[in-house]
Amino acid sequence: MPLLELNDVCAHYGRIQALDGITLTVEEGEVVTLIGANGAGKTTTMRVISGIRPVSSGKLLFDGDDIKSLRADLRVVRGISQSPEGRGVFPGMTVLENLDMGAYTRKDRKSLGADLDRVFSLFPRLAERRTQAGGTLSGGEQQMLAIGRALMAKPRLLLLDEPSMGLAPQFIAQIFRIITEINEQGTTVLLVEQNAQQALSRADRAYVIETGRIVKAGTGAELLADPAIKEAYLGVA
Ligand code: ATP
Repeated sequence: MPLLELNDVCAHYGRIQALDGITLTVEEGEVVTLIGANGAGKTTTMRVISGIRPVSSGKLLFDGDDIKSLRADLRVVRGISQSPEGRGVFPGMTVLENLDMGAYTRKDRKSLGADLDRVFSLFPRLAERRTQAGGTLSGGEQQMLAIGRALMAKPRLLLLDEPSMGLAPQFIAQIFRIITEINEQGTTVLLVEQNAQQALSRADRAYVIETGRIVKAGTGAELLADPAIKEAYLGVA
């Protein structure tokens, strides 16, 4: 049984159809990436999984259970945690307070110390800046904080929406290394990326999304070698 399954999922913003029958699966332990142009429906796909946007039709299963009508906060309790596009760090709160917000649905408060240690070992920079306000961090550091905050919910499935957006090249390489490390430590990852080259080279499997539909699927390596993908998404003619 896949950890996550979307079957013919549609979603709308008012009358605008953003998703037109998305079908995909994520198996436990995988890194799966969604690539596609601006406006293709990547963010909306993440939002229907995390519960920020409703599904208008189709199936949405997590660990075999229908979660379509489950509230977003209860999906976090079930094990789905999202690091949103544009980061959403709380600017007036310290790094530590931001991380604590990520853990607010946790009942096992005793193990929070160990999880904080895990986040600080993945992101030593956050440990150095733990008492600093979120809003004073650089773009790359805020991205790390958003990922760290999502990890504090101890998710089984981590949703990362454009983690490399707007980052300097040295931060981009670092974020992708850390995503691999998070996955190796046992967290399943669904990743949305504009940076298709890096995302495909890190992913076990990938889906290409165009105007709200999945138009291609394969292993990361297969899609990296696909001439049509190279031309459309990798900037190689
Ligand atoms: P981007 O990389 O630009 O974030 P995306 O692939 O994530 O693109 P979505 O943001 O999911 O795409 O958008 C899918 C479609 O839904 C687009 O046609 C977009 O214009 C539309 N859309 C997205 N958000 C809204 C909104 N809040 N209100 C109305 N339409 C929206």
